[in-house]
Amino acid sequence: MTPMLVTNIGELVTWDDEQPILDDAAFVVDGGRIAWFGRRTEAPDADAVRDVGGAAVIPGFVDSHTHLVFAGDRSAEFEARMTGQPYAAGGIRTTVAATRAATDEQLAANVARHLSEMRAQGTTTVEIKSGYGLTVHDEARSLAIAREFTEQTTFLGAHVVPAESEIADYVELVTGEMLERCAPYARWIDVFCEDGAFGADESRAVLEAGIAAGLLPRIHANQLGPGPGVQLAAELGAPADHCTYLSDADVSAIADSGIVAGLLPGVEFSTRQPYPDARRLLDAGAAVALATDCNPGSSFTSSMAFCIAVAVRDMGMSPREALWSATAGGAASLRLDDVGHLRVGAKADFTVLNAPSYVHLAYRPGVPLVAATS
Ligand SMILES: [Zn+2]
Repeated sequence: MTPMLVTNIGELVTWDDEQPILDDAAFVVDGGRIAWFGRRTEAPDADAVRDVGGAAVIPGFVDSHTHLVFAGDRSAEFEARMTGQPYAAGGIRTTVAATRAATDEQLAANVARHLSEMRAQGTTTVEIKSGYGLTVHDEARSLAIAREFTEQTTFLGAHVVPAESEIADYVELVTGEMLERCAPYARWIDVFCEDGAFGADESRAVLEAGIAAGLLPRIHANQLGPGPGVQLAAELGAPADHCTYLSDADVSAIADSGIVAGLLPGVEFSTRQPYPDARRLLDAGAAVALATDCNPGSSFTSSMAFCIAVAVRDMGMSPREALWSATAGGAASLRLDDVGHLRVGAKADFTVLNAPSYVHLAYRPGVPLVAATS
């Protein structure tokens, strides 16, 4: 493939140490990677040239937390909640029933539809969890389907205890036969550590079994109230997602251990819970990722721009911090070093905005600002 020069960029976000954001910029793509970036006037010649007309260009969004393998619709539950009923974690079981009843083709078509919706909104890397099957067969097929679309697949058999099981028996299944069948399709293992789901001992058992099977741990932690999830994450070096209810000790544990705190504001928006305090984490020196948590129950948005807008408006982040968290922060959460930035050597995953600056992502909430995703 001939090298391509992308030029006339009004504002280019690279996250390079020396030049993280450049005005009047250009970059060269060669072999699917960034080969050069810098001032437009200093750009090398190239046979293929793409002029973006002064638009801003940012790294493609990295959505480090989604639950895209599902069937069914929970809009009635959302409507009920918006008229005064509280969210309960057991609502997951509604989606489990619909997912078990769906064919592989229906589930795959649903994943494809949501991924194309995400791509149209600037997202180029997506993590996908299982967790709506909760049987050996249904978890394994959920992950096999997810693996057709991304390498960033996560085994979340420990999402909720299925209605037909006792917790001790179910943990034994998740850490035994289910793990064995799912591990070949997964890079990560996850657990919903929360009252009403899995406690500290069960969560530790699930993650340690996954680690022993060669998977990397991550945790749904401290979403609905204070709990042991964040401390367990820090101990295991696992990214901790949600982080809505944190003690001072939790904040210190995240910062000191260097784990990434994943904040998922679509959940708090859709459940009318208080938003996580990103400012408190950033001021403590913690790395923060923003992700959609796209799922039919608690956060049915696929828009990273929406998450950025909420993070800036209500979570104490600057527009620049929020963009970093939605790109480089997501990559850090997924332990990927060649996405989420546009430094030399990065994958050429970039998004051209219909705007002169990335600030418009928060400044113009709800407006479709993505002109093109590569
Ligand atoms: Zn989740």
